[in-house]
Amino acid sequence: MSRYLCHDQPQLSELETSVVDWRPGRVRLDRSPFYPGGGGQLADRGHLSWRNGDVSITGFEAEADGLWHLLSANDEIDGAIKVRIDQPFRELMSELHTLSHVVNNFVFEEFGGALVTGVQMAEDGSFRIDFDLPGADNDRLRGMVDEINDALRQDFPVRQEYLSEEAVGSEPGLIRSKAVTPPPQPDGTIRIVDIVGLDRQACGGTHLFHTGLARSIRILKVENKGRQNRRLRVGIADLFND
Ligand SMILES: [Zn+2]
Repeated sequence: MSRYLCHDQPQLSELETSVVDWRPGRVRLDRSPFYPGGGGQLADRGHLSWRNGDVSITGFEAEADGLWHLLSANDEIDGAIKVRIDQPFRELMSELHTLSHVVNNFVFEEFGGALVTGVQMAEDGSFRIDFDLPGADNDRLRGMVDEINDALRQDFPVRQEYLSEEAVGSEPGLIRSKAVTPPPQPDGTIRIVDIVGLDRQACGGTHLFHTGLARSIRILKVENKGRQNRRLRVGIADLFND
């Protein structure tokens, strides 16, 4: 599979393409702008329209032969088609994903390189992020929120680059997940998301173009998950007023 279009052209919300393969309820496309999910980010949602109709895209399945788009109906689809991303949903996921990097950065710096053991974003505008942090002071974790919001307002640009596995291995701190390394691209390189001047880490998701586009956060909850893990639940402050 080639590189995701959503990595190289994240602003692309609709395009015209053609069917490469069809089975009832699923289709493979010549080009697709969708993010199929992974790394804690929910898959894009959207629509597919063609001369005979319009169906929702309900999910994705990556197989050796390419990415299958799962559809809300079994109609046979052929010819020229148009696909459209649910853009507000993509933007929310990109915002949460960007926020998760900034939160991750502060925990990583403040707690001696603590690694992430899990991330999950949610459509209500929150995410949870688990860290391998035995013995951490939960109040110290909660206390980082003002610094994190200040960093967002400094409006750091967000860029991507691709590094060889050797280069990733020789630059400490790029791999933040304890158990999972993002899979290499078809050319063997690893995608790095660089919040320039703040944070660099391997990641395969979608993000905002600069941190100033993200809304401020609240830390909704800090929980102990077993002896090793701390779970932070973080929400976009505007959406979690009480
Ligand atoms: Zn990311």
